[in-house]
Amino acid sequence: MSESVTIVGGGLAGLTLGIGLRQRGVPVTMWEAGRYPRHRVCGEFISGGGQNSLARLGLLEGLQRAGVGSAGSAAFFAGKTRVAARPLPKAALCVSRFVLDEWLAREFQRLGGELRPGARWHGEFGTGIVRATGRSAEPVTDGWRLFGLKAHARGVALAADLEMHFVPSGYVGLCRLAGGGVNICGLFRSKSVVPDLAQRWRDWLGGPAASVLHSRVADARFDEDSFCSVAGLCLRPQRATQRNECCVGDALTMIPPVTGNGMSMAFESAELAIEPLAEFSYGQLTWDGARHEIATRCDMRFTPRLRWAAWVQRALFQPLARAVLMFLAARSEWFWRGIFGRTR
Ligand SMILES: Cc1cc2nc3c(=O)[nH]c(=O)nc-3n(C[C@H](O)[C@H](O)[C@H](O)COP(=O)(O)OP(=O)(O)OC[C@H]3O[C@@H](n4cnc5c(N)ncnc54)[C@H](O)[C@@H]3O)c2cc1C
Repeated sequence: MSESVTIVGGGLAGLTLGIGLRQRGVPVTMWEAGRYPRHRVCGEFISGGGQNSLARLGLLEGLQRAGVGSAGSAAFFAGKTRVAARPLPKAALCVSRFVLDEWLAREFQRLGGELRPGARWHGEFGTGIVRATGRSAEPVTDGWRLFGLKAHARGVALAADLEMHFVPSGYVGLCRLAGGGVNICGLFRSKSVVPDLAQRWRDWLGGPAASVLHSRVADARFDEDSFCSVAGLCLRPQRATQRNECCVGDALTMIPPVTGNGMSMAFESAELAIEPLAEFSYGQLTWDGARHEIATRCDMRFTPRLRWAAWVQRALFQPLARAVLMFLAARSEWFWRGIFGRTR
């Protein structure tokens, strides 16, 4: 008889892990505080090795049928500086989280997983329990309050599949979605609490007057129901081997959103956890052994990437460093490919 595994958090990491374990016959119960389908604050741009994880788990074709698109180019804007549309060294996937999370949840259930939507876990994270609860909230990081906003819109014409606009308080990504809509998602920082976000989110996502972002969003027809926000983000890299719990996805560590690699890390960390957890379930590995193996694999895979991404994120918030980055990205294929490769 196999030992069962409990996964707390039915986001991308939890669901992917649950699917992988069910494919190996492991009994899985998943607790999810929310319900499906639901919008999430996310650029909805999947870039990096997570695509290979999805393919190896046999999920890519089904997702493509459900409405996953492909992105092959990106353009960057900061004030009057712009980097015209450039081919991405490796194509990304674009998909609404409204579609993606629900599709994975259905797949988990189809494979016999027990899903408990609307159920928040309040217990300990001991033997057999995996934390996939997403980001850990930290109201202030290094003196800044980081928050994210996102909404879907129509009537937005883009010069590339992904446009990144750098504004004084952060950055906004505009990503083409299958079906003709555009996802508009921003990460911002502020020294003080920002009031009225629920009313003023269009101003934040619309950028400063006279900016390219402002002109892009001027005629946008927002899908009001898709608006969501998140605050208390912490982008300080964490090491899995320093944790006492078994963690996957953002619960482990969060990579700066500008990389478009957070979802990929959720898929990758879930995939790295499948084999050790299956061995635990079959009685071939102790819980501590499985936890240690997963943490070691995650640190080996993610530590260099997190270091580069933290460096890029810091540079993007300093006008001079950002200008140098954009200059080099526009003129040097070697630099563009190097930065792209090292942050994913
Ligand atoms: C502004 C912004 C833009 C981003 N843009 C991108 C992008 O373009 N590309 C990209 O790849 N990534 C992006 N990301 C990151 C990406 O959204 C995350 O990395 C990804 O969602 C992580 O998945 P996860 O499963 O770890 O966490 P989540 O998707 O957050 O899922 C965690 C789940 O756990 C549940 N939960 C939490 N606590 C409990 C509990 N106690 N009991 C039960 N359930 C619980 C929650 O309800 C939630 O469903 C962005 C993030 C931000 C903030």
